[in-house]
Order: sequence, then structure tokens, then C-alpha cells
Amino acid sequence: YQAKVKSKKQVVFFDDIAEAASYRLRLESELPLAIETNQLVLCYQPQVDTITYQMVGVEGLVRWNHPELGMISPNDFIPLAEEAGMIIRLGEWVLREGFLQAKRWEDKGIELKVGLNVSMQQFHHPTFVLTLVRLVKETQVNPRQIDLEITEVSAVEDIEETVETMHRLKQLGFTISIDDFGTGYSSLSRLVDFPIDTLKIPREFVQKINIEASGYSMISSIIHLAQSLNLAVIAEGVETLEQVNVLNQLACERMQGYYFGRPMPPHEIEPLLYRDLT
Ligand code: C2E
Ligand code: MG
Ligand code: MG
Ligand code: MG
Repeated sequence: YQAKVKSKKQVVFFDDIAEAASYRLRLESELPLAIETNQLVLCYQPQVDTITYQMVGVEGLVRWNHPELGMISPNDFIPLAEEAGMIIRLGEWVLREGFLQAKRWEDKGIELKVGLNVSMQQFHHPTFVLTLVRLVKETQVNPRQIDLEITEVSAVEDIEETVETMHRLKQLGFTISIDDFGTGYSSLSRLVDFPIDTLKIPREFVQKINIEASGYSMISSIIHLAQSLNLAVIAEGVETLEQVNVLNQLACERMQGYYFGRPMPPHEIEPLLYRDLT
């Protein structure tokens, strides 16, 4: 068992279970204050239309800028927040921050769709839709600028409730994406019931794109499925030109990944607008 902390360029490995556990405990106990004192930051990663090679959207990705431990990855604290019942507060912080940024861009005449991750617990929370309504009022964001990314697991839990919540989100003007599509357990027959807009192809498949019968056929299947259901697709974790080319051959017209840009602060996003990001 190894827990990994990345603080700036330094990587620390815990070889000791007790040490890893005490690290988790520290993060868990310090997270509420971190939310209150704005230690969280939302970075944005470009999403590119590969017909024009221009940025058409961004995905907001949260980080914890810890005063002593440096930048902490969401993989290290989102699961903790979920276990400790803090994901609702954390999730609300992310939504507010993302809405405010989308509004700032809108006010500058910048048309960028902002994708925001919604955790399973958050999506199924009884006040989720009301929170969104309240945050839209508070921030004055146009919900049409916001794409809510839901993981497949959250979508299968309770089908009826999920479909109803999704319809309410759509009525408010949000679009909906299924994140990491194909890694969860949702059945294809259910997919038609979901009023969703986009399937996100996971990095795991993109990384295996050159292994026949592995990534390639999975991606090809997802793209065909999306076409027949009239959904958009976006490939995640695109790192190489080779991957871009294969994805283009498969008619995947939107991509996101280090090849086009890493998650970055909003002021670094703006100079990339209207540029060719090849
Ligand atoms: P995700 O939503 O699937 O986000 C994509 C992850 O892949 C991000 O990791 C992103 O930085 C990373 N990525 C993007 N392009 C590349 C690439 O070309 N190569 C590689 N190796 N990685 C790439 P990140 O930011 O560490 O986030 C990890 C996960 O944490 C996210 O996966 C999401 O599930 C969760 N997360 C992040 N922010 C939030 C949030 O605000 N709320 C919730 N509930 N979960 C979040
Ligand atoms: Mg996501
Ligand atoms: Mg994903
Ligand atoms: Mg994910």
C-alpha cells in the first residue's frame, strides 16, 4: 500500500500504512478549513474542436493548494471528502467558483462552455437541484454555459430518480455529460432514457488506442453509439499526435488532454482563445 503526495516537484511515498493513514487523517481534518479559507483552486483544461483546432470549452478541475503540503491532487481528497460527508460543501464551492468564472468570461464576450464535475453523492443529494437554482441566481450565470459531468456510476444507482433529476437540470438549461463512459456499469438500454448531451471517452481507452481489440474498438463502439443516439463525444487524456490522428479517423471531433493543454488557471486560458491549438 502506497499513498502518494505530489507537492510541487517533490514526490513522497509512504511505505508505512500508519503514515499514510495519518496523512489521510490530516487532510480530512484540515479540509473544512481549506474550503472556508479558499485554499481550493479551480483549474481549467482546454477542450478542442479538432475540425477547427480551436478551444470550444474547458473542464474545471479542483486542486487543494495546501500551505504546507503544496498542490494536492483531487484523487487524494475527493474520495476523503466523500467518505467524510464533506463533498456537498466542497461540491458547492466548485459549482460557485465555476459559475463565477463562466460569468466573468461571458461578461468579456468569451464563449466557452465550462464543464464541472459532480460527484455521485452530490447528484443524488435531495437539495442538489435547489442548490443549482440558488447558485444560478447568486452568480447570474447562464446555465447554457455550464456542462455538468456525471460519472456513470452515479447514473445507474437509481434510474427513475436519475432520469428525473437530469430532466430538471436540462429544464434549467444545463447540458449533461457522462464522464469516463464505458468504465462503469450502466446498461446500454438505459442510456436512451437519460436526457444527456455528451459521452466522455476515458483516458484509459485513449491510452490503449493502438492496441487492436482494446482501446481502439472500445472508442469506435462509443463513437458509433453516440452517433446513433445523437450525442456528442469528447476524448479525454489525449497526449500524442498519433492519438489525435486515430481519433480523427474515427470521427471524434472534440478532444481534451495534455497534447492541447494541461489544467491551468483561468488567466492562462484566455490567450489560447481563437488560436490554433495543434
Ligand atoms: P476526470 O473528471 O475524468 O478528469 C480528467 C483527469 O485527467 C484530470 O485529472 C486531468 O487533469 C487528467 N488529464 C487530462 N488530460 C490528461 C492527459 O493528457 N494525460 C493524463 N495523464 N491525465 C490527463 P485530475 O485533475 O487529477 O482529476 C482527477 C479526477 O478527480 C477527475 O477525473 C474527477 O473525477 C475528480 N475531480 C476533479 N475535480 C473535481 C471536482 O471539482 N469535483 C468532483 N466531484 N470531482 C473532481
Ligand atoms: Mg470530468
Ligand atoms: Mg473523465
Ligand atoms: Mg473520473
